[in-house]
Amino acid sequence: MTGPRYTPLVSALPATVPFVGPEAQERDRGEPFAARLGANENIFGPSPRAVAAMAKAAAEVWKYGDSESHDLRHALAAQHGVRPGNILVGEGIDGLLGCLVRLIVGPGDAVITSLGAYPTFNYHVAGFGGTLHTVPYRGDHEDPEALFAKACETGAKLVYLANPDNPMGSWHGGRTISPLLDRLPEGCLLVLDEAYVECAPEGTAWPGRADDPRVIRLRTFSKAYGLAGARIGYGIGHADLIAAFNKVRNHFGVNRIAQEGALAALKDHAYLTEVLERIAAARSRIAAIATANGLEPLPSAANFVAIDCGRGGAFARAVLEVLSAQGVFVRMPFAEPQNRCIRVSCGPDAALDAFAAALPVALAAARAAG
Ligand SMILES: *Cc1c(COP(=O)(O)O)cnc(C)c1O
Repeated sequence: MTGPRYTPLVSALPATVPFVGPEAQERDRGEPFAARLGANENIFGPSPRAVAAMAKAAAEVWKYGDSESHDLRHALAAQHGVRPGNILVGEGIDGLLGCLVRLIVGPGDAVITSLGAYPTFNYHVAGFGGTLHTVPYRGDHEDPEALFAKACETGAKLVYLANPDNPMGSWHGGRTISPLLDRLPEGCLLVLDEAYVECAPEGTAWPGRADDPRVIRLRTFSKAYGLAGARIGYGIGHADLIAAFNKVRNHFGVNRIAQEGALAALKDHAYLTEVLERIAAARSRIAAIATANGLEPLPSAANFVAIDCGRGGAFARAVLEVLSAQGVFVRMPFAEPQNRCIRVSCGPDAALDAFAAALPVALAAARAAG
């Protein structure tokens, strides 16, 4: 019997996934994690108003969502001072990245990212046959100058830059990016992933015009707004680019419950402010736990802290595995030299207490083994 006849592209793809989720890891270990600090979720949770709006929407879930996400797009446009035509709502940044790559990248087209940056983007590039070129981080920062130079060298159609960065938590002032855009090759689009920008210092968001054809900005409700499981995010870009998504996007992919939750979350400014304070306090506590154990926490503008374990990738991996064995789920960067770190998401004291208790045990075990 012959199987389905996959495309040559799919036949050639590796069977890897960008992330093995915590649920899959829990099934493997046979018990749940006590502290879920690995996926950069917002463990403080969403606004109670968002929860109430979603509970109400649940009874109406027999209806498809609004395929144009009209109300949310208009609210986002008002918040950002742009036109609704500059905003696209999609199934999280991950979903938007897939659509964007499908729009722009064909087999063999060059795409640029940083070595060890957000892997889901790379996964989509591979899935549409693009050729990924990477440049190293510089001092644990993504390096826009090097990214843009590589784009010139390769004639790239897309360049990916996350600001703040995941997995290191480093960031650039938004203003520093604008003059560098002149160095992008003609017709090259910058994908500016601002998944964590709400958590970042004032001035981190790129201040440029939504109608600049060289940039699409991506935002999400998964991180600061605490709606990761609802799968909703948005893009801000030139109206023509936003309209082009209508040719390929999954028009009913954003669900009604998420649309209502995101709208309510967006309006609850007081809750966002409170959560951002709690995130900042958790960053300080994670840094203090690291320091108390003789490790170096990296400065972070995101809802996690990368901790330099000081001895390279194999050691950090060993620390992570003993943390995991103690029920503390964290992740670590994929590439050298960033993989000398573990990455710990912000969360309430109970979760960080579990991390604080498990870390010395993990370090002792990793040192004994190494
Ligand atoms: C978490 C994360 C995302 C995913 O966002 P979703 O909207 O949940 O798909 C995108 N980019 C970066 C850099 C992230 O860390």
